Amino acid sequence: MQQMRFSDRKDFLRTRKILLISAASLLLVLSILLYIVLGKTRGVYYELTEFVMGTRVRVYVAGDKMPSKILAQMAIEEFRRLDQKYDPYRPGSILYKINHSSTWTEVDEETLGLIKAAIGFAKSTEGAFDPALGRIIRLWGFDEFSSKNASELHVPSDYEIERELKRSGYDKIVIDSKNSRVYMKDGAWIDLGGMVKGYALERAYKKIKAVDKNATGFIDAGGDIRIIGPKFGTSCWTIGIKNPRGEGIVDMIYLKEGAVATSGDYERYFIIDGVRYHHIMDPKTGKPARGVWSVTVVAKDAVTADVLSTAGFVLGKDYRFVLLKFPELGGQVFMVLDGGKTVKSEGFSSFEKEK
Ligand code: AMP
Ligand code: MG
Repeated sequence: MQQMRFSDRKDFLRTRKILLISAASLLLVLSILLYIVLGKTRGVYYELTEFVMGTRVRVYVAGDKMPSKILAQMAIEEFRRLDQKYDPYRPGSILYKINHSSTWTEVDEETLGLIKAAIGFAKSTEGAFDPALGRIIRLWGFDEFSSKNASELHVPSDYEIERELKRSGYDKIVIDSKNSRVYMKDGAWIDLGGMVKGYALERAYKKIKAVDKNATGFIDAGGDIRIIGPKFGTSCWTIGIKNPRGEGIVDMIYLKEGAVATSGDYERYFIIDGVRYHHIMDPKTGKPARGVWSVTVVAKDAVTADVLSTAGFVLGKDYRFVLLKFPELGGQVFMVLDGGKTVKSEGFSSFEKEK
């Protein structure tokens, strides 16, 4: 009896040992397979497209040290994170919290930095870029535009516009840096829609570069593009500037680094009685800015490109000023004016040639 039990136990131990060894071997084989599959994407371009931040985000990347697929996924994850954090109309986002609070809201370092940068851009563009137009943007129905149907969209009355303008403008953002908190005066709302895509592009780019500094490729967020590195490490990427009315492109640019962004009246708009109402607001009038169909800006980083394209659109009527002043702010400009005529800043031509 005693002996039987002893041999049972021996069998049991042997079986367990075999099982454990088999499981470990299986795990090893699986890991090797995974490494081979993912490793294969190293040095080879990998493409990942997802709908995030209200737009199509396409990552086209080749890793040097890291598998390309992992790098592409990291970029998309960053977009998702920032979309949740900075969509002002999404309950739960930090901007929603700030906008719906009648007192100070504590914010993290990233948010404080972003809001401060936005105010800096408002000042340098003489108020054309205004990060506190949330009330106006909602009045016109451009808050959650893609989920709205035509019957929900209308042209607000002058009275409504006046009322919401009084609750708008970046001078209503109060910052307490010492205690890292923000307060909105007069019930104004922050909306960083004019720069958050650029910020996400820049962050995603930096995340990729931090783990694989020789990675190459680009990230395209609805036409705003951040170059990660030259094509195959040496060549330019060719980028077309969309025709704002109809098919095709109006110009072609070549980039090995930096970023490009376009703001246009064809991106989000509705037409009533033959008049086009779009999503880029003139902070002075509280109405869609007029005078230009699209503004494209090439800059060293995606935030500058994004902000300046929005600001350039607002200042479109005064395009000569934009063409002269924006290069000083770090952006070269290409504009399609109302009617279709194209104009550009002097330095823009250097991007129209392949180097
Ligand atoms: P973009 O497509 O980059 O020009 O950004 C347009 C978005 O920026 C809009 O959908 C609004 O969320 C926001 N916006 C509209 N007008 C302005 C403005 N004058 N300054 C800053 N942001 C704006
Ligand atoms: Mg912009």
